[in-house]
Amino acid sequence: MPAEYPDFRLGSVLATCFTGTLSERHGEAVERIPTPHRLVDWLVLNGLAVDSCTTAQLERAWDLRESIHAAATATAIGDAPPASAVHVINRCSIAGRAAAVLTPESNREWLLSSASRVEDALGVVAADAISIISGERDGKLALCASPTCRAAFFDTSQSRTRRWCDMNTCGNRQKKARFNANQRKARTAE
Ligand SMILES: [Zn+2]
Repeated sequence: MPAEYPDFRLGSVLATCFTGTLSERHGEAVERIPTPHRLVDWLVLNGLAVDSCTTAQLERAWDLRESIHAAATATAIGDAPPASAVHVINRCSIAGRAAAVLTPESNREWLLSSASRVEDALGVVAADAISIISGERDGKLALCASPTCRAAFFDTSQSRTRRWCDMNTCGNRQKKARFNANQRKARTAE
């Protein structure tokens, strides 16, 4: 039987979806792409299908992920992104040779230069990170309110008041914690 790996979190923003493959950074961290094979799975799921991945490519991916996390976190709190993070993001973006193509159904798809070019896929992720960190896209970078998470996410809500990186996990946990606290209070009041 294949080993069980933690599920991926889905999201509409590629770059923060990617940084979300390591969650609970300030608690008990969960690595969702622990092996090259899991990175392949994640890329396939996000429209960047590659057929293989080496350990070195996985390490490059982790490096890019943590650089995006660092740069996005700095931007969310109004700081300049660390130079080392900017360097990694730019290097990955430059190394990528993916091309955007239009499908007959008018969807955009990414065409990688070869099926094993993880670098092309990472280039797309890096470019996506650049578009949200530079502020060119409609939305605002913010940090998750969960103290064990603090993930950077891209808030596209009208009021820009979203508090959690993910409603199904961090948001839900917070709601449950509040519910339990209220229950306890109700019990002591009885
Ligand atoms: Zn969170």
